[in-house]
Amino acid sequence: MDKNNNFINGKWVPAHGEATFTVRNPADTREVVAEYPVSGREDASRAIEAAVQSQGAWAAMTPVARGRILSKASQILEGRKDRLAEALTREEGKTLGESLGEVQRAVDIFRFYGGISYVLGGRTIPHDAPNNLLYTVRQPLGVVAMITPWNFPIAIPAWKLAPALLCGNAVVIKPASMAPGPALEVARALQEAGLPAGVLNVVIGEGSTVGTELASHPSVVALSFTGSYPVGDKIYQQLAGRMARAQMEMGSKNPTIVLSDADLDLAVNLVVRAGFGLTGQACTATSRVIVERPVLGEFTERLVRRAATWKVGPGLKPGAEMGPAVCESQLEANLRHVTQAIHDGARLLYGGQRLQEGDCAHGYFMQPTVLGEVKPHMKIAREEVFGPVVGIQGVDSFDEAIAAANSVEQGLSASIVTRDLKKAMVYADQIEAGVVKINQISTGLALQAPFGGVKKSSTDSFREQGTEGLDFYSRLKTIYLDYSAS
Ligand code: NAD
Repeated sequence: MDKNNNFINGKWVPAHGEATFTVRNPADTREVVAEYPVSGREDASRAIEAAVQSQGAWAAMTPVARGRILSKASQILEGRKDRLAEALTREEGKTLGESLGEVQRAVDIFRFYGGISYVLGGRTIPHDAPNNLLYTVRQPLGVVAMITPWNFPIAIPAWKLAPALLCGNAVVIKPASMAPGPALEVARALQEAGLPAGVLNVVIGEGSTVGTELASHPSVVALSFTGSYPVGDKIYQQLAGRMARAQMEMGSKNPTIVLSDADLDLAVNLVVRAGFGLTGQACTATSRVIVERPVLGEFTERLVRRAATWKVGPGLKPGAEMGPAVCESQLEANLRHVTQAIHDGARLLYGGQRLQEGDCAHGYFMQPTVLGEVKPHMKIAREEVFGPVVGIQGVDSFDEAIAAANSVEQGLSASIVTRDLKKAMVYADQIEAGVVKINQISTGLALQAPFGGVKKSSTDSFREQGTEGLDFYSRLKTIYLDYSAS
């Protein structure tokens, strides 16, 4: 079992109260994976103080010098890829293949932002008058905080930290207690790459203590959060009260629309991977399939057949396509959603049961689940499940499909499967989502492109990732220089 500390001011330190907690393997709860500190507000406050002290010198370095550290950290992480992926699977539960992909994503993110350090800057703008120079510079904000979820425990810290650090900010990050290990590994790589003490601090603890301190401390000028809507909403109110910059990226209820001209093999393949891959524990997972009636029967039959062969098991076991839920309460919530859906009139077509035999005996496993006859007013069509549960809605037309897709409060990723280019483009135009996929899986993102949601999936003021990811962590200053008199 690994024993871990917080990372504050360049040192690995226990929590003030020295209390600890353990994380168990969700695929086999007999295995204790790691021990972590239970930090409190004073630990968060110390971390913020360290960040305040270090930020000026970090900001004074050139972007290229900061970028070199990010690039070096990328190389260090890449060298540890296999070990990090295995640890991620033990702690969070996703399959080893999924963990390897996620660690590679973190490696690539640090490489990407390390590379764009060479072009980080503002722009020149033509002035109305001659002999005038008008230009912008990109400046850091100061101390920024991050609060992250457990479902992408290395990729999400990476996609927030890399642009924040590149822009010259100092950071305090609180990863989710369910899987805090990978964020510490990122800190270790950055430390070894030469990041000065205090520029990055990792504090592990509860949202109600550490998270509250980060949201309310006057030295924290911006906070980027990824997690559920109720928590994001609460933090947003705290930040608004003191006019701190806020970026809240939250849950969704992502649709995949299947039109009657769709390649059904492709449609089924996309939906199983987007619905059951990552155990459905992705903010961009497909949980609603909206299908035109002419192909509803055929599509449903094929999806059920595919769900029945989807291999569930411990993520480290070769061949496993779907690992366990991250914890008991997440598993119970998934099963409750299924029971409620059936109570509301949906039909259970496959799955819906906990798995407790063989390799699954000691973990939080459930069957991939397909529900039919879902109606737009049902909870299963409106609320995020965050588990491997897909509900199928039949519709009579393309217009009804778009209306159904847009009828929920969230809007993160939305996919359509069709051969009709015109309908695909109308869909791209009218769908209320931050990410639109055409004949592509609703999960999976290009790190070089902006990412974020609309409606209750996001505060929708800034995007993450890509070059747009720099905007949240920097401000533009506009400079007017008149050299006509010199
Ligand atoms: P969560 O909201 O329970 O927790 C997220 C983080 O907030 C954790 O670090 C938690 O400790 C912290 N927190 C909890 N209460 C807090 C409080 N009162 N003050 C401050 N911090 C607090 O979410 P989760 O269960 O970790 O993650 C799953 C959710 O995240 C899902 O809704 C999913 O859709 C969403 N998510 C969104 C994206 C995206 O990019 N939009 C990506 C991944 C996950």
